[in-house]
Amino acid sequence: MSMSIADRLRAGPVLGAEGYVFELERRGYIAAGPFVPEVVLDYPDAVRELHREFLRAGADVMVALTYYAHREKLRHVGREGDLEAMNRQAVRIAREVAREGDALVAGNVCNTWAYDPDDPATGQAVRAMYAEQLGWAAEEGVDFVISETNDYLGEALIAVEVIRDLGLPAMVTLAPTQPDQTRDGYGYAEACRILAAEGALIVGLNCDRGPQTMLPLIAPIREAVECAVAVQPVPYRTRPGTPTMETLRSPEGERAFPIALDPFTCTRFELAQFALQARELGVDYVGICCGAGPHHVRAMAEALGREVPASKYSPSMELHPMFRADMAAKDAAFLHSWSA
Ligand SMILES: [Zn+2]
Repeated sequence: MSMSIADRLRAGPVLGAEGYVFELERRGYIAAGPFVPEVVLDYPDAVRELHREFLRAGADVMVALTYYAHREKLRHVGREGDLEAMNRQAVRIAREVAREGDALVAGNVCNTWAYDPDDPATGQAVRAMYAEQLGWAAEEGVDFVISETNDYLGEALIAVEVIRDLGLPAMVTLAPTQPDQTRDGYGYAEACRILAAEGALIVGLNCDRGPQTMLPLIAPIREAVECAVAVQPVPYRTRPGTPTMETLRSPEGERAFPIALDPFTCTRFELAQFALQARELGVDYVGICCGAGPHHVRAMAEALGREVPASKYSPSMELHPMFRADMAAKDAAFLHSWSA
C-alpha cells in the first residue's frame, strides 16, 4: 500500500515534476498556442514515456495530463467529442506508470480562461467543467487533485469546492504572473490563507516565474498558513526586471514566451540549488513546471539526498576522456583549445 499524499508530506519534502505540455510540444506532439493535450489520445506512448522519465528522475507524483483538457478548450480545437476519452485516458496512463514505481497519481485542472469575477454565470460554467473533468478522474482513480496556474482566487476556490465534494485532497497553486496579487486583487499569501481555510491540503505557487523570482514570494506564504506549501517554478532565468517567463525578451527585443525560451533555460545545478533553498524555506512540495526536463528533476532529487533510478546514469565526469585524472598525453596537449 502506497503512502498517501498527507503521509508523504509529513515525511517530506514531496518532489513534483510537471511541464508535460511544454515538453511534449517540443517533441512535436502538442501545438503551441492552444496547448491542448491531444497527444493523450493521439500518441499515448509519448505521454507514457515522459511520465516514465520523470518517475525514473525521482518524481513522487505522476500528474495526469489533463491540463487544458476542459470543454471550452476542446471545443476551440474541434475535439469536444473526445473530452471524456481524453480525460479518462490521461489518468489511466498516469496510473499505469505510477505503478512502475511508488508514485502517487494526481488529477489535474487549471485556469480555464472562461472565468470572469464580475460575471457569476462564468463561475457556474467553470464549476461544470471542473466537475466533469474531476468526476472522470475520480472514477479512474486519483490520489489527490492539483488545481494549478490559477490567476483568480475566485476560480481556485471553485476548484477547491469541486475537489472537496469528491472527497479528494486538494493541492491548489496560484500563477504568480502579477507582482504581488491575484487578478482579483488578493495578495498571494492572503489568497493561500483563504484556500487553506477552505480545505486545501497544499497551497502555493506554480509556473510563470523562475527560481530566482519565485523564491522571494514564498516566505510570506509559509508564514500565512499552517498547511503544506508547494512551489513549482519554471526552469527559466527570470530576474527582477523580467520576473516572469512571459516578460523575457531576446536581445532583439522579441518576446521569448512561449517557444523561444530556450536560451533562458536554467541548468540542472540551478534547479538543484533551488530545491535546497525551497526546503530551507519550509516548502513541503518542491517541484518544477513548464520547461522542465528529467535532468532537472533528477538533480533536484539528488540535491534532496535521494538516489533515484536515473541516478545509475548520473554524470561521471571523472571518466570523460578530457577531464580524467589520468588523461592521455596525446589529449592533454589539446586541453588548452577547450578553454580558448
Ligand atoms: Zn507551467
